[in-house]
Formats: sequence, C-alpha cells, structure tokens
Amino acid sequence: MKFTDEYRDQRLAKELAAALARVTTRPWTIMEVCGGQTHAIVKFGLDQLLPPGVELVHGPGCPVCVTPVELIDKAIEIAARPEVIFCSFGDMLRVPGTQRDLFSVKAQGGDVRIVYSPLDAVQLARRHPDRQVVFFAVGFETTAPANALAVLQAHRLGLKNFSMLVSHVLVPPAMEAILSSPNNRVQGFLAAGHVCTVMGYTEYEPIARRYRVPIVVTGFEPLDILQGILMCVEQLEQGRAEVQNQYARAVRRRGNEPAQELIRHVFQVVPRKWRGVGEIPQSGLGLAPAYAEFDAERRFGVATLTAEESAECISGLILQGVKKPHQCPAFATRCTPEHPLGATMVSSEGACAAYYRYRRDVAAAGPVQAPAKG
Ligand code: SF4
Repeated sequence: MKFTDEYRDQRLAKELAAALARVTTRPWTIMEVCGGQTHAIVKFGLDQLLPPGVELVHGPGCPVCVTPVELIDKAIEIAARPEVIFCSFGDMLRVPGTQRDLFSVKAQGGDVRIVYSPLDAVQLARRHPDRQVVFFAVGFETTAPANALAVLQAHRLGLKNFSMLVSHVLVPPAMEAILSSPNNRVQGFLAAGHVCTVMGYTEYEPIARRYRVPIVVTGFEPLDILQGILMCVEQLEQGRAEVQNQYARAVRRRGNEPAQELIRHVFQVVPRKWRGVGEIPQSGLGLAPAYAEFDAERRFGVATLTAEESAECISGLILQGVKKPHQCPAFATRCTPEHPLGATMVSSEGACAAYYRYRRDVAAAGPVQAPAKG
C-alpha cells in the first residue's frame, strides 16, 4: 500500500534496530506518549527488537482512557434524559462509568448516537429543534480544532438546542506531572506526532530543558517509532536533552497556527481530572466564557457530580509508565475487552487492549522481556 508499506519495511527496521544496538551502552526508559504508538509497538513487536535494557513504557496519550469516571457518569446522566440526543465517537460508548456505560443507556431506550464528526451533531441539532443535542467532546489537542469549529457554527446558527460535554486534555502538563512524580522512571519521550501537527513543538522545549529529558516528536508507523527511539537514545547517550522532530513530513515547529487560534478563541485552559491519575493543574480545555451557553454540564446541572474510581483497576499506574498491563491482577481474567473494568481495556488505543490483543499468551507466561543480544 502506497505511503504505508514504505514505513513498514523489514530490512530498514532491522537496520534501525542494529543502529540502536550500536549506540546503546546502558539501560534507558523511554515513554511513548500516544496510545496509537503503543498499539503499533505491541502489534509489530517493536519492543522486542530493542537492545536489552532499553525499555518502552506506555503513556497517557489515549483520550478515552484518561477521561475520568465522573465525566462518564455525567454523560450517562445526560444521555438518559428523554429530550436528549447524545452524540459521541464510538469507543466512548463502552467505557464503564460507576454503574453502567453509554451502551446500556442506549439499550434501555436512550437516544445515544455514534457520529463521525462534531459537525454531524450540529446538523442533528438543526434537524431536531425540539430535542437537545449534546456532543461528547473527548480528546487531546488533535480533535480540539474540529470541536471548536462545531461550537462556532452552532453559535453562528443561533442554535439553542446544541451543547457540548467537554473533556479535552493537554499533553504537555501530563508529561510534566509524570516527570515530577516521585515514582517517575521516564528518561526520554516519544511525543505524539498528530498532536504536534496541530500544536507544533515549542511547548516541549522548556520541558526538555527544565527536566533534562530528550523529547522526539514521532510518527506512528514502525520505522517512525524505531527512528524516534534511536534519536532519543542517541541524545541520552550523548547527555543531550533537546526536542527533535522525527515526524518532519507532517509536523512543523509552530504547528497549525490557524487551528491553534481557533482553539484559543473557543476554549480556555482549565484544571482537569485524569482517570487513574487525579487532577493535573492547567491540563485541560473548557469552553471560554463567551461560549458558556454551550456547556452541557451547566445546561443539565451535572457540574457537581462526583464519582469514585474502581479500586481494582491500576490503569493510573499504567498510564504513568509505572506498571505494564499484564502486571494487573485482573488482566485477561476479570478484565477483558468484552467485560472491561477500566478504560485502557476499552479503547482501541488503550495499552491493556493492545496487550490483550497481541500479547495475551506472552503475558500469561510472565513479564514481557526483550530478547538477548546476538
Ligand atoms: S487490565 Fe483492566 S483492570 Fe487492569 S489496569 Fe487494565 S483496564 Fe484496569
């Protein structure tokens, strides 16, 4: 397949792995931020190509996984109302709240619909002026411009029956929270390429300097990831801590500035709770005061609803790179994709789902290890 096979070439992958083995003299722990990268790593066995001691830990870059349980409960509460058409991307429907998920609301007669764009929800609001249409806006910086555009369009159309349940999160504050944690093991990052296509990577430069960590903006195909790891290890070995751009075919240093302007116009930076991690200051986006009329939490009076996380699920430790999915006692036993206990088993980008799909047998036999050199 044109433009995909080129980035999955086995010969080039082996050359990159050999280059990595040549430059590596000691153990390093690197976190890939994005769940899409985690899936590629596990699916293609990239971690098994690494030299002994170079370990990849899986980061918090799956927006479905980090949406806090109380936001899911708020979504369920709103979606169950008879006047509401509740719109969401598909993978949010199976994320467990405290008691149930959005699929069970749908099964019990709630009007819960899967949409492919927030603009679909705006169109639904135009077609159904007698109903309240709510869009569940989950995501990192990548999806924020389209969601901002939907709010602007609803505003321009004067729609009084459209609102948004916003759970946007920002990557740089999460990286800082991980680096500041007393449990931190991360020595270098592969930053998420798609986030940087929107935001660029100037925000990462002070983080690299302050915490002395290399950060490599990295794509999602096997060769992207291996090259990103190689660039990161080269920096670590040379004692450098810079931001480098492996994903130059898509990312510019300043990113997509009109998209950033749109985000700044419609949203404001707010504290945000991350599932399994807790509240991180200035780590989310909420609607700016000028667009507060579109805030579903206010419209439906659910802003103060709180909920407790499952005590059994250790996804918070997995999302911080402290544990791996197969180290969870519930993995593949009480927690499976059919009966998930935590969001990291639900999402197509979740680390637990990736291990369940590609590493279940290995995980059952014990911790996943890189093969010995030579
Ligand atoms: S296997 Fe299930 S219970 Fe364990 S951390 Fe993953 S999602 Fe949570």
